Amino acid sequence: MFVVGLTGGIGSGKTAASDYLASLGITVVDADLASRVIVEPGQPALAAIEAHFGAEVIAADGTLDRRALRERVFADPAERKALEGITHPAIAAEIMRQLQASRSPYTLLVSPLLLETSQHRMAQRILLIDVPEAVQVARTTSRDEVPAAQVEAIMAAQMPRDEKRARADDIVVNDGDLSHLHAQLDTLHARYLEMARTQRND
Ligand code: ATP
Repeated sequence: MFVVGLTGGIGSGKTAASDYLASLGITVVDADLASRVIVEPGQPALAAIEAHFGAEVIAADGTLDRRALRERVFADPAERKALEGITHPAIAAEIMRQLQASRSPYTLLVSPLLLETSQHRMAQRILLIDVPEAVQVARTTSRDEVPAAQVEAIMAAQMPRDEKRARADDIVVNDGDLSHLHAQLDTLHARYLEMARTQRND
């Protein structure tokens, strides 16, 4: 199993990049999706959240009341830690299950928190989608119709760009048009296919 972990800040182009690699036949495992699956009704992580935080974080229809939970952990680092102690292992297990089910030559693990969590340990290679901050703000505000200040606040809470760059094996600078992004990904795709093939023959 050869896993490429793809990450990047808000609006950097993770989805644009993973959609393109998916179109080349690569299976994409989405950590955001996994984080939603593990708190669906009937999942053990949801039961553990209810046991710790109480019934007030469960909505009338049995689903997680995200807003109530957010209010409980916002400004309370100990409660946030308790929540992450429940969710992070469950997300990692769900990601691992999906990675193991993948049949493509290599598999892409897309996660905005790849480097901030232990998820990077599941990847053999770290690919960063990097963009100048001004482009990040411009693209996110036009996609989500949110004020620039809101995007800047999210960016300030994320791992600094330099730190991400230092930890990545490969960096795609997504500051041009989509064909510029795709051309860079074509080169990396060929390299990852070769790495996966070599690993299989080891
Ligand atoms: P988030 O972390 O917020 O989910 P993301 O990293 O997945 O974001 P995308 O949604 O792929 O980022 O890109 C942000 C926006 O910028 C989207 O509207 C996307 O279509 C656009 N975009 C991405 N790359 C390019 C590009 N090279 N040229 C023009 N637009 C782009």
